[in-house]
Amino acid sequence: MKKISRRTFNKTLSKGLGGAALVSSMPLAACGLNGTSKNQNSLGIALVGLGSYSTYQLAPALQDTHYCHLVGIVTGTPEKEQQWAKRYNIPKTHIYNYENFDAIAQNDDIDIVYVVLPNSMHADFSIRAAKAGKHVICEKPMAMNVEECNAIIDACNKAQVKLGIGYRLHSEPYTQEVKRLVREKTFGNINYISADAAYQSLTNPNQWRLNKSLSGGGALMNMGVYSIQSLIYGSGQNPVSVTAQEFSTRPDYFKDTDETITAQFEFPSGTVGQMMTSHNVRANRLFASCDKGWFELDPASTYIPLAGRTSRGELNFPQESQQKLQMDDFARHVLEGTPNKAPGEMGKRDMIIVEAIYNSIAGGNKKIALDLGHMGITDS
Ligand code: NAD
Repeated sequence: MKKISRRTFNKTLSKGLGGAALVSSMPLAACGLNGTSKNQNSLGIALVGLGSYSTYQLAPALQDTHYCHLVGIVTGTPEKEQQWAKRYNIPKTHIYNYENFDAIAQNDDIDIVYVVLPNSMHADFSIRAAKAGKHVICEKPMAMNVEECNAIIDACNKAQVKLGIGYRLHSEPYTQEVKRLVREKTFGNINYISADAAYQSLTNPNQWRLNKSLSGGGALMNMGVYSIQSLIYGSGQNPVSVTAQEFSTRPDYFKDTDETITAQFEFPSGTVGQMMTSHNVRANRLFASCDKGWFELDPASTYIPLAGRTSRGELNFPQESQQKLQMDDFARHVLEGTPNKAPGEMGKRDMIIVEAIYNSIAGGNKKIALDLGHMGITDS
């Protein structure tokens, strides 16, 4: 039988009963700081790692989510415990550090653990969260390598908990529109697609993103996964081969990790793909040239706002927090069985491609064949 936490079970049950049973037991945090009302079955989320993404994106977004709310934190920095407890009304009983984290298993208010740590810590904390019986959202890139992705997927399967990757764009309207254009072949066959995801603001040379033992790699492990993702949902296919190149213009600064990488993908339909990622270039774009026109997102993977146009005119969708949409989508997947928009298999597929790109570069830019089938493609 599928394992389900007592609280999730109660919530699911109460939903079936009209939700009356849980109204009086809703935690304070479930009301949101700005008074946003939550769904009565709202799931409790604990953020693991209170760095910039948790602080400036996820925690604020969780004040507006409808199907989940911030109820716990896990941090290695004692000062942050008090700051966050005060700001988000988090009781002491729902605050953990990296050592006592496993005790989270006894906390029925926490349904989902969201791992927002340096990449080298994703597998450890995702696996520990699964063993604690919690559903898991793991930030991108899923892990340091494919082996770790397999270990996370196995742990979640074994514990019968859900696993999602922090790929927020799959809940974002411009990206959904691209998927629709691809799915419905609005512009016919896609002959060429390019995707750039790069930025130039790594000003602290000591940060973990420039330390291979913590990041697993440079630009490719950071923004590169967005370029890979764009090529795949922008063509609706997984690549069958990849050929890659690395460029270094500041070897003194990017000592340990890749600075700029380009790669060419071949797709089964004949679509040719080209990607670029960098920690020393500014670019954020997806462009597809098709038989009967073209479509473009620029920017294509920043938080807000994305923008886009096609050969028929501008795209125009309402702007909303991507993180809010993403976390609500995952919570609905847990609560209602709606599709998992970014499953673990998708994170693993991207890591297979990342490894192939690094292998291509190490092998003197040789073409690497890929056998991915439909792996990780959910809805395009
Ligand atoms: P950050 O450097 O701002 O925060 C990292 C957190 O991890 C800090 O709270 C730090 O104290 C903690 N930490 C624990 N052990 C550490 C160690 N050994 N070295 C350094 N920090 C340590 O990073 P971030 O930008 O919040 O990124 C965290 C994760 O979220 C990364 O995997 C990143 O790829 C991902 N991320 C995703 C998005 C997205 O759009 N989905 C955006 C930003 C970051």
